[in-house]
Amino acid sequence: MTARGILAGAMVLATGISLIATPLGAQTSAPFAYRPGFHVRNYDIAIDVPDSGATIHADATLTVERSASYDTLSLDLLDLTVARVAVNGRPSTFKQTRESVVVVLPPARTGDTTLVEVEYGGTVTDGLIARRDSARRWTYFGDNWPNRARHWIPSLDHPSDKATVTWRVRASPRQTVVANGAMVSTRQVPDPHGEPRMEWVWRESQPIPPYLMVIAAAPLQRYRLGETCVPADGPKCVPQDVYTAPEQAKTMPGPFDRAGGIVGLFSHLIGPFPYEKLAHVQSSTRYGGMENASEIFYADGAFRRGTMNDDLIAHETAHQWFGDAVTERQWPHVWLSEGFATYFAALWDQAARGDSAFRTRMRAIRETILRDSVSVTRRPVIDTIETVLMRLLNRNSYEKGGFVLHMLRTQVGDSAFFRALRAYYAEHRNSTALTDDLQAAMEKTSGQKLDWFFNQWLRRPGYPELDARWRYDRQTHEAVIDVRQTARFGTFGAPLLIGVVDSLGGEHRAMLPLTADTDLHSIRIESPTMPSAVLLDPNVTLLAAMRLTPLPPQ
Ligand SMILES: [Zn+2]
Repeated sequence: MTARGILAGAMVLATGISLIATPLGAQTSAPFAYRPGFHVRNYDIAIDVPDSGATIHADATLTVERSASYDTLSLDLLDLTVARVAVNGRPSTFKQTRESVVVVLPPARTGDTTLVEVEYGGTVTDGLIARRDSARRWTYFGDNWPNRARHWIPSLDHPSDKATVTWRVRASPRQTVVANGAMVSTRQVPDPHGEPRMEWVWRESQPIPPYLMVIAAAPLQRYRLGETCVPADGPKCVPQDVYTAPEQAKTMPGPFDRAGGIVGLFSHLIGPFPYEKLAHVQSSTRYGGMENASEIFYADGAFRRGTMNDDLIAHETAHQWFGDAVTERQWPHVWLSEGFATYFAALWDQAARGDSAFRTRMRAIRETILRDSVSVTRRPVIDTIETVLMRLLNRNSYEKGGFVLHMLRTQVGDSAFFRALRAYYAEHRNSTALTDDLQAAMEKTSGQKLDWFFNQWLRRPGYPELDARWRYDRQTHEAVIDVRQTARFGTFGAPLLIGVVDSLGGEHRAMLPLTADTDLHSIRIESPTMPSAVLLDPNVTLLAAMRLTPLPPQ
Protein backbone atom coordinates (compact mmCIF):
# COMPACT_ATOMS: atom_id res chain seq x y z
CA MET A 1 0.00 0.00 0.00
CA THR A 2 0.97 3.59 0.02
CA ALA A 3 0.70 5.71 3.13
CA ARG A 4 -1.12 8.99 2.63
CA GLY A 5 1.24 11.71 1.52
CA ILE A 6 4.21 9.42 1.05
CA LEU A 7 4.51 10.20 -2.64
CA ALA A 8 4.48 13.89 -1.97
CA GLY A 9 7.59 13.35 0.10
CA ALA A 10 5.80 14.19 3.31
CA MET A 11 5.78 11.73 6.14
CA VAL A 12 3.72 9.00 6.40
CA LEU A 13 1.41 7.28 8.72
CA ALA A 14 -1.16 9.44 10.34
CA THR A 15 -3.19 6.87 12.16
CA GLY A 16 -1.63 4.02 14.06
CA ILE A 17 -3.22 0.84 15.18
CA SER A 18 -1.35 -1.56 17.34
CA LEU A 19 -2.87 -4.94 16.79
CA ILE A 20 -0.29 -7.56 17.36
CA ALA A 21 -0.24 -10.59 15.13
CA THR A 22 1.17 -13.93 15.97
CA PRO A 23 4.72 -15.17 16.02
CA LEU A 24 6.54 -12.53 14.09
CA GLY A 25 9.85 -14.28 13.93
CA ALA A 26 8.49 -17.74 13.34
CA GLN A 27 9.95 -19.34 10.24
CA THR A 28 7.55 -22.19 9.80
CA SER A 29 6.49 -23.30 6.38
CA ALA A 30 3.19 -22.71 4.63
CA PRO A 31 0.41 -23.60 4.64
CA PHE A 32 0.26 -24.34 8.36
CA ALA A 33 2.31 -21.41 9.59
CA TYR A 34 -0.31 -19.40 11.41
CA ARG A 35 -2.65 -21.79 13.18
CA PRO A 36 -0.93 -25.16 13.19
CA GLY A 37 -2.99 -27.99 11.78
CA PHE A 38 -5.43 -25.78 9.87
CA HIS A 39 -5.57 -24.10 6.50
CA VAL A 40 -8.61 -22.39 4.96
CA ARG A 41 -8.84 -23.23 1.26
CA ASN A 42 -11.91 -21.17 0.41
CA TYR A 43 -14.18 -18.53 1.89
CA ASP A 44 -17.77 -18.26 0.65
CA ILE A 45 -19.12 -15.11 2.21
CA ALA A 46 -22.73 -13.96 1.91
CA ILE A 47 -23.13 -10.50 3.34
CA ASP A 48 -26.09 -8.13 3.65
CA VAL A 49 -24.93 -4.55 3.37
CA PRO A 50 -27.47 -2.15 4.89
CA ASP A 51 -28.92 0.84 3.08
CA SER A 52 -27.59 3.02 5.88
CA GLY A 53 -25.68 2.59 9.11
CA ALA A 54 -23.09 -0.04 10.00
CA THR A 55 -25.11 -3.11 10.97
CA ILE A 56 -24.36 -6.11 8.82
CA HIS A 57 -25.59 -9.65 8.69
CA ALA A 58 -23.40 -12.32 7.14
CA ASP A 59 -22.93 -16.00 6.64
CA ALA A 60 -19.43 -17.31 5.90
CA THR A 61 -18.72 -20.88 4.86
CA LEU A 62 -15.06 -21.85 5.14
CA THR A 63 -13.54 -24.88 3.46
CA VAL A 64 -11.03 -25.98 6.06
CA GLU A 65 -8.20 -28.42 5.49
CA ARG A 66 -6.68 -29.97 8.60
CA SER A 67 -4.34 -32.58 9.95
CA ALA A 68 -5.88 -35.43 11.92
CA SER A 69 -4.66 -34.58 15.38
CA TYR A 70 -6.39 -31.18 15.47
CA ASP A 71 -10.07 -30.98 16.36
CA THR A 72 -10.57 -27.48 17.75
CA LEU A 73 -10.60 -24.66 15.24
CA SER A 74 -10.15 -21.10 16.42
CA LEU A 75 -11.17 -18.46 13.88
CA ASP A 76 -10.25 -14.82 14.32
CA LEU A 77 -13.33 -12.64 14.77
CA LEU A 78 -13.74 -9.36 16.64
CA ASP A 79 -16.70 -7.14 17.51
CA LEU A 80 -19.50 -9.13 15.87
CA THR A 81 -21.82 -11.73 17.39
CA VAL A 82 -22.02 -15.30 16.15
CA ALA A 83 -25.58 -16.61 15.96
CA ARG A 84 -24.98 -20.09 14.63
CA VAL A 85 -22.23 -22.46 13.54
CA ALA A 86 -22.68 -25.52 11.37
CA VAL A 87 -20.04 -28.11 10.54
CA ASN A 88 -20.51 -30.13 7.37
CA GLY A 89 -24.11 -28.94 7.32
CA ARG A 90 -24.95 -29.90 10.91
CA PRO A 91 -25.46 -27.46 13.78
CA SER A 92 -22.40 -27.39 15.99
CA THR A 93 -21.57 -26.13 19.44
CA PHE A 94 -19.15 -23.24 19.56
CA LYS A 95 -17.68 -20.79 22.00
CA GLN A 96 -17.15 -17.13 21.23
CA THR A 97 -14.42 -15.20 23.02
CA ARG A 98 -13.52 -11.53 22.63
CA GLU A 99 -11.12 -12.34 19.78
CA SER A 100 -12.29 -15.57 18.24
CA VAL A 101 -14.94 -18.16 17.64
CA VAL A 102 -13.89 -21.63 18.70
CA VAL A 103 -15.47 -24.60 16.94
CA VAL A 104 -15.13 -28.26 17.91
CA LEU A 105 -14.80 -30.45 14.84
CA PRO A 106 -15.63 -34.13 14.39
CA PRO A 107 -12.75 -36.59 13.88
CA ALA A 108 -11.14 -36.49 10.46
CA ARG A 109 -8.20 -37.87 8.57
CA THR A 110 -5.28 -35.64 7.68
CA GLY A 111 -6.05 -33.67 4.54
CA ASP A 112 -9.80 -33.98 4.94
CA THR A 113 -11.77 -30.86 4.26
CA THR A 114 -14.45 -29.66 6.63
CA LEU A 115 -17.12 -27.08 5.83
CA VAL A 116 -17.47 -24.63 8.69
CA GLU A 117 -20.38 -22.21 8.37
CA VAL A 118 -20.58 -19.20 10.65
CA GLU A 119 -23.66 -16.98 10.74
CA TYR A 120 -22.93 -13.69 12.43
CA GLY A 121 -23.72 -10.01 12.52
CA GLY A 122 -23.71 -6.73 14.38
CA THR A 123 -22.21 -3.29 14.06
CA VAL A 124 -18.91 -3.18 12.20
CA THR A 125 -16.36 -0.81 13.69
CA ASP A 126 -13.36 -1.64 11.50
CA GLY A 127 -12.31 -3.77 8.52
CA LEU A 128 -15.48 -2.95 6.62
CA ILE A 129 -15.64 0.83 6.76
CA ALA A 130 -19.24 2.08 6.76
CA ARG A 131 -19.47 5.82 6.34
CA ARG A 132 -21.09 8.63 4.42
CA ASP A 133 -19.18 10.18 1.54
CA SER A 134 -18.83 13.91 0.95
CA ALA A 135 -22.32 13.96 -0.59
CA ARG A 136 -23.75 12.24 2.53
CA ARG A 137 -24.40 8.92 0.74
CA TRP A 138 -23.65 5.73 2.63
CA THR A 139 -20.63 3.79 1.36
CA TYR A 140 -19.03 0.48 2.40
CA PHE A 141 -15.41 -0.37 1.68
CA GLY A 142 -13.24 -3.17 3.05
CA ASP A 143 -9.87 -2.00 4.40
CA ASN A 144 -8.11 -4.95 6.03
CA TRP A 145 -4.37 -4.34 6.16
CA PRO A 146 -2.65 -5.73 8.16
CA ASN A 147 -4.96 -7.89 10.29
CA ARG A 148 -8.29 -6.10 10.28
CA ALA A 149 -10.17 -8.69 8.20
CA ARG A 150 -11.08 -10.26 11.56
CA HIS A 151 -13.31 -7.27 12.30
CA TRP A 152 -15.83 -8.53 9.73
CA ILE A 153 -14.70 -11.93 8.42
CA PRO A 154 -14.25 -15.04 10.61
CA SER A 155 -10.87 -16.05 9.27
CA LEU A 156 -7.35 -17.29 9.75
CA ASP A 157 -6.24 -13.70 9.47
CA HIS A 158 -2.59 -13.99 8.50
CA PRO A 159 -0.79 -13.54 5.16
CA SER A 160 0.51 -17.12 5.25
CA ASP A 161 -3.01 -18.55 4.98
CA LYS A 162 -4.18 -17.77 1.45
CA ALA A 163 -7.55 -18.86 0.11
CA THR A 164 -9.93 -18.39 -2.78
CA VAL A 165 -13.05 -16.37 -2.04
CA THR A 166 -16.59 -16.05 -3.31
CA TRP A 167 -18.54 -12.93 -2.36
CA ARG A 168 -22.35 -12.87 -2.36
CA VAL A 169 -23.23 -9.31 -1.54
CA ARG A 170 -26.78 -8.05 -1.14
CA ALA A 171 -27.14 -4.31 -1.24
CA SER A 172 -29.45 -1.47 -2.18
CA PRO A 173 -30.07 -1.21 -5.94
CA ARG A 174 -28.50 2.26 -5.68
CA GLN A 175 -25.13 0.73 -4.82
CA THR A 176 -22.56 -0.70 -7.21
CA VAL A 177 -20.75 -3.69 -5.74
CA VAL A 178 -17.17 -4.53 -6.73
CA ALA A 179 -15.23 -7.39 -5.16
CA ASN A 180 -12.19 -9.60 -5.76
CA GLY A 181 -12.06 -11.63 -8.96
CA ALA A 182 -14.58 -11.94 -11.75
CA MET A 183 -18.22 -10.99 -11.57
CA VAL A 184 -20.29 -14.18 -11.70
CA SER A 185 -23.84 -12.84 -11.62
CA THR A 186 -26.19 -10.10 -10.53
CA ARG A 187 -29.87 -10.57 -9.79
CA GLN A 188 -32.73 -8.88 -8.08
CA VAL A 189 -33.84 -10.49 -4.83
CA PRO A 190 -37.15 -9.71 -3.11
CA ASP A 191 -36.99 -8.20 0.35
CA PRO A 192 -40.01 -8.82 2.61
CA HIS A 193 -39.25 -5.61 4.50
CA GLY A 194 -38.98 -3.20 1.59
CA GLU A 195 -37.92 -2.67 -1.97
CA PRO A 196 -36.10 -5.45 -3.87
CA ARG A 197 -32.35 -5.64 -3.37
CA MET A 198 -29.55 -6.65 -5.68
CA GLU A 199 -27.32 -9.64 -5.12
CA TRP A 200 -23.86 -9.47 -6.69
CA VAL A 201 -21.68 -12.57 -6.86
CA TRP A 202 -17.94 -12.17 -7.41
CA ARG A 203 -15.43 -15.01 -7.40
CA GLU A 204 -11.65 -14.83 -6.91
CA SER A 205 -10.33 -18.17 -8.12
CA GLN A 206 -6.72 -17.55 -7.09
CA PRO A 207 -5.76 -17.84 -3.41
CA ILE A 208 -5.20 -14.49 -1.70
CA PRO A 209 -4.50 -13.54 1.93
CA PRO A 210 -7.40 -12.25 4.07
CA TYR A 211 -5.87 -8.76 4.15
CA LEU A 212 -6.72 -8.45 0.46
CA MET A 213 -10.30 -9.82 0.63
CA VAL A 214 -12.60 -6.83 0.25
CA ILE A 215 -15.80 -5.51 -1.22
CA ALA A 216 -16.91 -2.06 -2.28
CA ALA A 217 -20.61 -1.18 -2.06
CA ALA A 218 -21.18 2.46 -2.93
CA PRO A 219 -22.81 4.66 -5.57
CA LEU A 220 -19.90 4.05 -7.93
CA GLN A 221 -19.79 4.78 -11.64
CA ARG A 222 -17.80 2.53 -13.89
CA TYR A 223 -15.37 3.82 -16.50
CA ARG A 224 -14.08 1.11 -18.84
CA LEU A 225 -10.38 1.32 -19.61
CA GLY A 226 -10.47 -1.61 -22.02
CA GLU A 227 -8.23 -4.62 -22.09
CA THR A 228 -4.46 -4.90 -21.88
CA CYS A 229 -3.18 -7.82 -23.93
CA VAL A 230 0.47 -8.72 -23.64
CA PRO A 231 1.80 -10.97 -26.43
CA ALA A 232 3.96 -13.01 -24.06
CA ASP A 233 0.84 -13.86 -22.06
CA GLY A 234 -0.75 -15.90 -24.79
CA PRO A 235 -4.44 -15.21 -25.26
CA LYS A 236 -5.04 -13.77 -21.81
CA CYS A 237 -5.99 -10.12 -21.62
CA VAL A 238 -6.58 -8.01 -18.54
CA PRO A 239 -9.76 -5.91 -18.47
CA GLN A 240 -9.38 -2.73 -16.42
CA ASP A 241 -12.01 -0.35 -15.05
CA VAL A 242 -12.09 2.70 -12.83
CA TYR A 243 -14.95 3.10 -10.36
CA THR A 244 -15.53 6.59 -9.03
CA ALA A 245 -18.13 8.59 -7.16
CA PRO A 246 -20.59 10.14 -9.64
CA GLU A 247 -19.04 13.60 -9.21
CA GLN A 248 -15.60 12.41 -10.34
CA ALA A 249 -16.79 10.32 -13.30
CA LYS A 250 -16.35 13.22 -15.72
CA THR A 251 -12.64 13.48 -14.84
CA MET A 252 -11.94 9.96 -16.08
CA PRO A 253 -9.70 8.47 -17.32
CA GLY A 254 -7.23 11.13 -16.12
CA PRO A 255 -3.96 9.41 -15.12
CA PHE A 256 -5.66 6.02 -15.52
CA ASP A 257 -4.96 6.37 -19.24
CA ARG A 258 -1.55 4.96 -18.18
CA ALA A 259 -3.04 1.87 -16.47
CA GLY A 260 -2.79 -0.25 -19.63
CA GLY A 261 0.84 0.67 -20.14
CA ILE A 262 1.65 -0.12 -16.52
CA VAL A 263 0.07 -3.60 -16.64
CA GLY A 264 1.79 -4.17 -19.98
CA LEU A 265 5.24 -3.21 -18.65
CA PHE A 266 4.99 -5.32 -15.49
CA SER A 267 3.60 -8.33 -17.39
CA HIS A 268 6.56 -8.05 -19.72
CA LEU A 269 9.11 -7.75 -16.90
CA ILE A 270 7.68 -10.25 -14.40
CA GLY A 271 5.13 -12.60 -15.94
CA PRO A 272 1.39 -12.84 -16.55
CA PHE A 273 -0.99 -10.65 -14.54
CA PRO A 274 -2.32 -12.95 -11.80
CA TYR A 275 -6.05 -12.11 -11.66
CA GLU A 276 -9.23 -11.99 -13.69
CA LYS A 277 -9.48 -8.21 -13.94
CA LEU A 278 -8.10 -5.05 -12.41
CA ALA A 279 -10.46 -2.45 -10.96
CA HIS A 280 -9.26 0.93 -9.67
CA VAL A 281 -11.71 2.15 -7.03
CA GLN A 282 -12.24 5.50 -5.33
CA SER A 283 -12.73 4.41 -1.73
CA SER A 284 -12.42 5.26 1.93
CA THR A 285 -9.17 3.37 2.60
CA ARG A 286 -7.06 4.88 5.38
CA TYR A 287 -4.02 4.48 3.11
CA GLY A 288 -3.19 6.55 0.04
CA GLY A 289 -3.73 3.37 -1.93
CA MET A 290 -4.38 -0.23 -0.96
CA GLU A 291 -3.49 -3.07 -3.32
CA ASN A 292 -6.48 -5.37 -2.73
CA ALA A 293 -6.21 -8.30 -5.13
CA SER A 294 -7.70 -7.37 -8.52
CA GLU A 295 -9.35 -4.24 -7.08
CA ILE A 296 -7.08 -1.44 -5.92
CA PHE A 297 -8.66 0.98 -3.47
CA TYR A 298 -7.44 4.57 -3.55
CA ALA A 299 -8.11 7.30 -1.02
CA ASP A 300 -11.17 9.33 -1.88
CA GLY A 301 -9.34 12.66 -1.47
CA ALA A 302 -6.90 12.09 -4.35
CA PHE A 303 -9.87 11.83 -6.72
CA ARG A 304 -11.71 14.83 -5.28
CA ARG A 305 -8.62 17.04 -5.27
CA GLY A 306 -7.49 15.80 -8.68
CA THR A 307 -4.09 14.70 -7.36
CA MET A 308 -4.27 11.07 -8.50
CA ASN A 309 -1.13 10.18 -10.46
CA ASP A 310 0.41 7.33 -12.41
CA ASP A 311 3.11 6.86 -9.77
CA LEU A 312 0.53 5.72 -7.23
CA ILE A 313 -1.23 3.59 -9.84
CA ALA A 314 2.10 1.93 -10.71
CA HIS A 315 2.94 1.24 -7.05
CA GLU A 316 -0.42 -0.42 -6.31
CA THR A 317 -0.47 -2.26 -9.63
CA ALA A 318 3.01 -3.71 -8.98
CA HIS A 319 1.62 -5.18 -5.76
CA GLN A 320 -0.72 -7.39 -7.79
CA TRP A 321 2.40 -9.41 -8.63
CA PHE A 322 4.42 -8.78 -5.46
CA GLY A 323 2.45 -8.85 -2.22
CA ASP A 324 -0.78 -10.18 -3.71
CA ALA A 325 0.24 -13.11 -5.96
CA VAL A 326 3.58 -13.68 -4.18
CA THR A 327 2.77 -12.88 -0.56
CA GLU A 328 5.23 -12.39 2.29
CA ARG A 329 4.71 -15.46 4.49
CA GLN A 330 5.75 -13.61 7.65
CA TRP A 331 5.34 -9.94 8.47
CA PRO A 332 9.08 -9.21 8.96
CA HIS A 333 9.46 -9.94 5.22
CA VAL A 334 6.95 -7.27 4.18
CA TRP A 335 9.71 -5.61 2.12
CA LEU A 336 9.02 -8.39 -0.44
CA SER A 337 5.78 -6.50 -0.96
CA GLU A 338 6.54 -2.81 -0.31
CA GLY A 339 10.17 -2.73 -1.50
CA PHE A 340 9.13 -4.36 -4.77
CA ALA A 341 6.21 -1.96 -5.30
CA THR A 342 8.54 0.98 -4.61
CA TYR A 343 11.13 -0.25 -7.12
CA PHE A 344 8.66 -1.18 -9.82
CA ALA A 345 7.02 2.25 -9.57
CA ALA A 346 10.51 3.64 -10.28
CA LEU A 347 10.85 1.24 -13.24
CA TRP A 348 7.54 2.55 -14.58
CA ASP A 349 8.97 6.05 -14.21
CA GLN A 350 11.95 4.98 -16.31
CA ALA A 351 9.74 3.46 -19.00
CA ALA A 352 7.47 6.50 -19.10
CA ARG A 353 9.97 9.33 -18.62
CA GLY A 354 13.42 8.00 -19.40
CA ASP A 355 16.76 7.16 -17.77
CA SER A 356 17.43 10.60 -16.40
CA ALA A 357 14.05 10.64 -14.59
CA PHE A 358 14.85 7.20 -13.22
CA ARG A 359 18.21 8.31 -11.82
CA THR A 360 16.58 11.37 -10.30
CA ARG A 361 14.00 9.09 -8.75
CA MET A 362 16.58 6.68 -7.30
CA ARG A 363 18.57 9.63 -5.95
CA ALA A 364 15.42 10.93 -4.23
CA ILE A 365 14.74 7.49 -2.75
CA ARG A 366 18.32 7.38 -1.45
CA GLU A 367 17.99 10.84 0.09
CA THR A 368 14.80 9.74 1.83
CA ILE A 369 16.59 6.72 3.31
CA LEU A 370 19.58 8.77 4.45
CA ARG A 371 17.34 11.35 6.14
CA ASP A 372 15.48 8.72 8.15
CA SER A 373 16.40 8.45 11.79
CA VAL A 374 13.46 6.32 12.92
CA SER A 375 13.97 2.90 11.39
CA VAL A 376 16.83 2.73 8.88
CA THR A 377 19.58 3.54 11.35
CA ARG A 378 18.20 1.36 14.14
CA ARG A 379 16.61 -1.69 12.61
CA PRO A 380 17.32 -4.05 9.74
CA VAL A 381 14.87 -4.29 6.82
CA ILE A 382 13.92 -7.81 7.96
CA ASP A 383 12.79 -6.71 11.40
CA THR A 384 11.93 -9.70 13.57
CA ILE A 385 11.62 -7.61 16.73
CA GLU A 386 8.87 -5.16 15.82
CA THR A 387 5.44 -6.35 16.97
CA VAL A 388 3.34 -3.33 16.02
CA LEU A 389 2.58 -4.15 12.41
CA MET A 390 1.81 -0.58 11.36
CA ARG A 391 5.37 0.37 12.32
CA LEU A 392 6.65 -2.00 9.63
CA LEU A 393 5.37 0.53 7.09
CA ASN A 394 8.58 2.48 7.27
CA ARG A 395 11.58 3.60 5.20
CA ASN A 396 13.13 0.16 5.57
CA SER A 397 10.25 -1.77 4.00
CA TYR A 398 9.61 0.79 1.24
CA GLU A 399 12.60 2.87 0.17
CA LYS A 400 15.48 0.78 1.50
CA GLY A 401 13.85 -2.42 0.27
CA GLY A 402 13.43 -0.81 -3.15
CA PHE A 403 17.03 0.42 -3.26
CA VAL A 404 18.31 -3.02 -2.20
CA LEU A 405 16.60 -4.47 -5.29
CA HIS A 406 18.32 -1.81 -7.39
CA MET A 407 21.71 -2.79 -5.93
CA LEU A 408 20.94 -6.48 -6.37
CA ARG A 409 20.34 -5.74 -10.04
CA THR A 410 23.76 -4.10 -10.27
CA GLN A 411 25.35 -6.98 -8.38
CA VAL A 412 24.04 -9.81 -10.60
CA GLY A 413 23.47 -7.87 -13.84
CA ASP A 414 20.27 -7.01 -15.67
CA SER A 415 19.78 -10.33 -17.37
CA ALA A 416 20.23 -12.53 -14.29
CA PHE A 417 18.19 -10.10 -12.17
CA PHE A 418 15.08 -10.16 -14.34
CA ARG A 419 15.39 -13.88 -15.09
CA ALA A 420 15.48 -14.49 -11.34
CA LEU A 421 12.47 -12.26 -10.71
CA ARG A 422 10.50 -14.11 -13.35
CA ALA A 423 11.50 -17.46 -11.86
CA TYR A 424 10.71 -16.28 -8.32
CA TYR A 425 7.28 -15.08 -9.48
CA ALA A 426 6.56 -18.27 -11.42
CA GLU A 427 7.54 -20.47 -8.49
CA HIS A 428 5.71 -18.60 -5.71
CA ARG A 429 2.75 -17.14 -7.60
CA ASN A 430 -0.51 -17.67 -5.68
CA SER A 431 1.58 -18.81 -2.75
CA THR A 432 3.92 -17.24 -0.23
CA ALA A 433 7.63 -16.52 0.02
CA LEU A 434 10.37 -15.47 2.38
CA THR A 435 13.53 -13.50 1.59
CA ASP A 436 15.52 -16.73 1.30
CA ASP A 437 13.35 -17.72 -1.66
CA LEU A 438 14.34 -14.54 -3.51
CA GLN A 439 18.00 -15.13 -2.63
CA ALA A 440 17.79 -18.70 -3.96
CA ALA A 441 16.35 -17.47 -7.27
CA MET A 442 19.07 -14.81 -7.61
CA GLU A 443 21.85 -17.27 -6.75
CA LYS A 444 20.57 -19.78 -9.27
CA THR A 445 20.43 -17.41 -12.24
CA SER A 446 23.62 -15.50 -11.39
CA GLY A 447 25.78 -18.37 -10.17
CA GLN A 448 26.88 -16.13 -7.28
CA LYS A 449 26.72 -16.83 -3.55
CA LEU A 450 24.78 -13.93 -2.13
CA ASP A 451 24.64 -14.56 1.63
CA TRP A 452 26.92 -11.59 2.24
CA PHE A 453 24.71 -9.31 0.14
CA PHE A 454 21.39 -10.26 1.75
CA ASN A 455 22.91 -10.21 5.24
CA GLN A 456 24.58 -6.82 5.03
CA TRP A 457 21.68 -5.03 3.35
CA LEU A 458 18.66 -6.72 4.93
CA ARG A 459 19.71 -8.16 8.27
CA ARG A 460 21.82 -5.24 9.52
CA PRO A 461 20.67 -1.67 10.09
CA GLY A 462 22.19 1.27 8.27
CA TYR A 463 24.31 1.74 5.15
CA PRO A 464 27.93 2.51 4.29
CA GLU A 465 29.17 5.93 5.23
CA LEU A 466 31.97 6.90 2.86
CA ASP A 467 34.45 9.63 3.63
CA ALA A 468 36.40 10.18 0.39
CA ARG A 469 39.33 12.47 -0.37
CA TRP A 470 40.95 13.06 -3.72
CA ARG A 471 43.99 14.87 -5.05
CA TYR A 472 45.61 15.19 -8.46
CA ASP A 473 49.04 13.63 -9.03
CA ARG A 474 50.71 15.90 -11.59
CA GLN A 475 53.58 13.45 -12.11
CA THR A 476 51.44 10.51 -13.21
CA HIS A 477 48.41 12.46 -14.50
CA GLU A 478 46.09 10.59 -12.20
CA ALA A 479 43.39 11.45 -9.72
CA VAL A 480 44.12 9.63 -6.45
CA ILE A 481 40.99 8.83 -4.48
CA ASP A 482 41.02 7.43 -0.94
CA VAL A 483 37.72 6.13 0.45
CA ARG A 484 37.28 5.36 4.12
CA GLN A 485 34.21 3.61 5.52
CA THR A 486 33.27 5.01 8.92
CA ALA A 487 32.55 2.68 11.83
CA ARG A 488 28.97 3.80 12.42
CA PHE A 489 27.25 0.80 10.79
CA GLY A 490 30.34 -1.32 10.16
CA THR A 491 31.97 -1.93 6.80
CA PHE A 492 30.10 -3.12 3.69
CA GLY A 493 31.13 -4.86 0.53
CA ALA A 494 29.97 -2.89 -2.51
CA PRO A 495 31.16 -1.73 -5.92
CA LEU A 496 31.74 2.03 -6.00
CA LEU A 497 31.81 3.58 -9.46
CA ILE A 498 33.92 6.74 -9.62
CA GLY A 499 34.01 9.24 -12.46
CA VAL A 500 36.75 11.80 -13.02
CA VAL A 501 35.91 14.73 -15.29
CA ASP A 502 38.95 16.40 -16.83
CA SER A 503 39.16 20.07 -17.69
CA LEU A 504 38.15 19.36 -21.30
CA GLY A 505 34.94 17.67 -20.19
CA GLY A 506 36.11 14.10 -20.79
CA GLU A 507 34.94 11.63 -18.16
CA HIS A 508 37.11 8.72 -16.99
CA ARG A 509 35.36 6.04 -14.98
CA ALA A 510 36.61 3.16 -12.86
CA MET A 511 35.12 0.73 -10.38
CA LEU A 512 36.51 0.63 -6.85
CA PRO A 513 35.40 -2.60 -5.18
CA LEU A 514 34.87 -1.78 -1.52
CA THR A 515 35.29 -4.80 0.71
CA ALA A 516 34.06 -5.39 4.23
CA ASP A 517 37.41 -6.63 5.56
CA THR A 518 39.08 -3.22 5.57
CA ASP A 519 37.83 0.30 6.04
CA LEU A 520 40.26 2.03 3.65
CA HIS A 521 40.39 1.68 -0.14
CA SER A 522 42.31 3.60 -2.75
CA ILE A 523 42.23 3.99 -6.51
CA ARG A 524 44.07 5.95 -9.17
CA ILE A 525 42.16 7.10 -12.26
CA GLU A 526 43.90 8.57 -15.26
CA SER A 527 43.10 12.17 -16.11
CA PRO A 528 45.25 14.02 -18.69
CA THR A 529 44.50 17.35 -17.05
CA MET A 530 43.62 18.55 -13.59
CA PRO A 531 40.07 17.21 -12.95
CA SER A 532 37.24 19.70 -12.80
CA ALA A 533 35.11 17.23 -10.82
CA VAL A 534 35.19 13.81 -9.21
CA LEU A 535 31.89 11.96 -9.11
CA LEU A 536 31.06 9.22 -6.62
CA ASP A 537 28.44 6.74 -7.86
CA PRO A 538 27.37 8.79 -10.93
CA ASN A 539 24.80 6.14 -11.95
CA VAL A 540 23.12 6.16 -8.52
CA THR A 541 23.48 2.44 -7.87
CA LEU A 542 24.84 2.46 -4.32
CA LEU A 543 23.00 3.18 -1.08
CA ALA A 544 25.59 5.10 0.88
CA ALA A 545 26.13 8.40 2.60
CA MET A 546 29.02 9.97 0.72
CA ARG A 547 31.29 12.87 1.54
CA LEU A 548 33.98 14.00 -0.87
CA THR A 549 36.81 16.40 0.00
CA PRO A 550 39.34 17.73 -2.55
CA LEU A 551 42.96 18.03 -1.38
CA PRO A 552 45.62 20.24 -3.01
CA PRO A 553 47.33 18.68 -6.07
CA GLN A 554 50.83 17.23 -5.71
ZN1 LIG B 1 2.57 -0.55 -1.16
